[in-house]
Amino acid sequence: MYDVIIVGAGVIGCLTARNLAKYNLKILVIEKDNDVGNETTSANSAIVHSGYDPLPNSSKAKFNVLGNAMFDKLCEELDVKFKRIGSITVAFDERQMETLKELQERATLNNVKTELLDKTKVHELEPMLSEEIVGGLLAPTAGIVDPFNLAVHAMENAIDNGVELKLSTKVESIKKVDDHFVVNDEYEAKVVINCAGIYSDVINKMVNKDDTSFEILPRKGEYFVLDHFNRPFVNHTIFMVPSEKGKGVLISPTTSQNYLIGPSAELTSRDDNATDKLTLSDVRRQASSVIPNIPFYEVIRTFAGIRSTPSTHDFIIEESKTKGFINVAGIESPGLASSPAIADYVVNEIVGKIIKLEPDTSFNPCVKKYIKHPGKMICKCERVSLQDVMDVLNRSCPPHSIKGMKRRVRAGFGRCQGGMCQGDVLKIMADFYGVDRMDIPYDNDDSFILVSKTKEEN
Ligand SMILES: Cc1cc2nc3c(=O)[nH]c(=O)nc-3n(C[C@H](O)[C@H](O)[C@H](O)COP(=O)(O)OP(=O)(O)OC[C@H]3O[C@@H](n4cnc5c(N)ncnc54)[C@H](O)[C@@H]3O)c2cc1C
Repeated sequence: MYDVIIVGAGVIGCLTARNLAKYNLKILVIEKDNDVGNETTSANSAIVHSGYDPLPNSSKAKFNVLGNAMFDKLCEELDVKFKRIGSITVAFDERQMETLKELQERATLNNVKTELLDKTKVHELEPMLSEEIVGGLLAPTAGIVDPFNLAVHAMENAIDNGVELKLSTKVESIKKVDDHFVVNDEYEAKVVINCAGIYSDVINKMVNKDDTSFEILPRKGEYFVLDHFNRPFVNHTIFMVPSEKGKGVLISPTTSQNYLIGPSAELTSRDDNATDKLTLSDVRRQASSVIPNIPFYEVIRTFAGIRSTPSTHDFIIEESKTKGFINVAGIESPGLASSPAIADYVVNEIVGKIIKLEPDTSFNPCVKKYIKHPGKMICKCERVSLQDVMDVLNRSCPPHSIKGMKRRVRAGFGRCQGGMCQGDVLKIMADFYGVDRMDIPYDNDDSFILVSKTKEEN
């Protein structure tokens, strides 16, 4: 019998597992994909929002502001790239300047420092911005983070501290039997935590069959990714003033010196993460109004992420009507920024009231440092060596797909998008796991790259 089963290994499930590992508990995380952080956690804007924007007194505002403040220590312990670069929300006219003043009042209520900037100051900070921009709202505490490795390193740390992880295992049923739960007719636990992202309403209904208190309305966001280049561009995350049409697109550096431009916002189905020309043209049009000379010839990829927008419009973080079953649902933006605070709250304020939490004195909060190894280069675009690849394969939360390797070490993330290194990575992974090269998928278990042999291997 497990003390706790967590359903879903996105950033919320991974950080919650790591927090639970601080106590003497038997913990299992069940994930349907063959990697952690493989869904919304790996397809977002990667911004640690300051928290100036969510409605005061909402869960979004509370967890965003608390979570933002936790990132320096957390990313130090987990050896994850994080930078407080600040954000600027830009206004194109006096009406939008009035909205910025309202947003500043909201920031004050949320306890977030901001500064109103005039036209001269905005252009001093960001010379590439359109001359049409008349002012901005600076939020210095906003940051950017590597979301892939935040989830992976959190799970690595959880596993190193005793948590069990089952990948490629879809939760199909959860039954309450006496005082405990049985998951997939196989795993028993006293407490179940639902961290299933866009499927969190489906998982909730497995236990609370008639619960209509929330549903998830998946909304897609499409992006361009620009390569890294050595010319001046933007130093802060640049937001547009939110309007009745939505938040508009943002332009932001990433921790890997790329730039993200997007996202769009359209209702979608849970499994549709395709990008399309029409939507991306609109993203391009909006972004070009903010920065007229965006080097779109530097685009190396497009992608889409799916927001788990809750019908309640706020995070749902509570023990459900069924005792011992906890929903952490509807964690749309600013869910990444809020994730450390959500994980703390779930463990200390919810689980701690259901089962006794006894500290595990052997808990180590730090992962073994990741170092860049010299030697034979596998990915020349991103300068990833053979030893870098071998290092992650030998850690406790290793990749099982090309995409998993790409997210961890960046092999295949560069200008050639794996054109040069994918074959080598595939061979290294097949040799490491002792399987045929045809058995290494690109992404999930059925996405094979090689489908048949044309000649003998050498
Ligand atoms: C376009 C976009 C932009 C965003 N930008 C930002 C941003 O800049 N800053 C910010 O703070 N937030 C942002 N967010 C929000 C942020 O990405 C999410 O809040 C966060 O990733 C949610 O994490 P999660 O763990 O709840 O969900 P997920 O990462 O989706 O994890 C849920 C996991 O549950 C698993 N699962 C589902 N069903 C089952 C099942 N039946 N059995 C087993 N496993 C299951 C899934 O496979 C998945 O791995 C953005 C989101 C989107 C889509």
